[in-house]
Amino acid sequence: MSIIIIKTVKEMHALSDSLRMQGKTIGFVPTMGFLHEGHAALIQKAASENDIVIVSVFVNPLQFSATEDYGIYPKNFEGDCAIIEQSHGNILFYPTKDEMYPANFSTSISIGNITNTFEGFFRPGHFEGVATVVAKLLLSTKPHHAYFGQKDYQQTLVIQRLIQDLHIDCSMHIVPTVREDDGLAKSSRNVYLQKEEREQSTIIFKALLNAKNAFLQGERNRLILNTYMHETLSALPQFDIQYASCAEAETLHEPDIFEEKSKVVFLIAGYLGKTRLIDNMVS
Ligand code: AMP
Repeated sequence: MSIIIIKTVKEMHALSDSLRMQGKTIGFVPTMGFLHEGHAALIQKAASENDIVIVSVFVNPLQFSATEDYGIYPKNFEGDCAIIEQSHGNILFYPTKDEMYPANFSTSISIGNITNTFEGFFRPGHFEGVATVVAKLLLSTKPHHAYFGQKDYQQTLVIQRLIQDLHIDCSMHIVPTVREDDGLAKSSRNVYLQKEEREQSTIIFKALLNAKNAFLQGERNRLILNTYMHETLSALPQFDIQYASCAEAETLHEPDIFEEKSKVVFLIAGYLGKTRLIDNMVS
């Protein structure tokens, strides 16, 4: 069975309304396309828990700054359709930029505290763009369940807040990060890596693992845990670190000393050559 492709919000509303009228549960997976096994894991999970799975492919201009890769973000429409179908997705929501942001569009959703640090600090305006597009996509597709990757850890906290604060009638699910065999988190942007950079990139996974292991062995001093990451990463001076820090997993607070039973997230972002890589691990 092949997938249905929907390009307008009006048609998407009508289809979701009709599915809901038929009593079908709708799972939704928002993406920017150039799909890989990480996206496939989200779609498969959605398919295992819902009657119908909608996947959106939309490269959202609002979440890129002027110096980022919006204009060259990789695309593969045929490949995306194949992955959606193989992963048991049913509907591709594929709106144009003008469909999502018609002339006079002027609303922006700002989430507050949780967006001030880490990604939000290094990518000003990014989470406003994410929150705005995710709200629009949820309102367009009307899912019962929406699926997001742990790969974008802070984004999951931002969207959880968005859904709660705006009373959006949808439950959110987080799917573990899918990695290459050597530990690199799968990402659409990994195609930018040169061969040598691809080999070097595993250091991020190792740095996260070292800090997490230190935490599991009892270290609770936040700066010492951060040092484990920085020391590991220092073996690759070409990696231009933006942050390599840990924080309380639910709030992203950064206490001097973590509580004995704290759940902690270890977060790294930086540039390897021209490629921006982010990854994380939870204790
Ligand atoms: P993107 O297309 O990069 O915007 O990602 C769309 C969704 O897929 C987001 O919820 C991401 O967190 C998720 N995702 C991306 N890469 C991975 C991965 N390696 N493992 C799990 N989820 C991922």
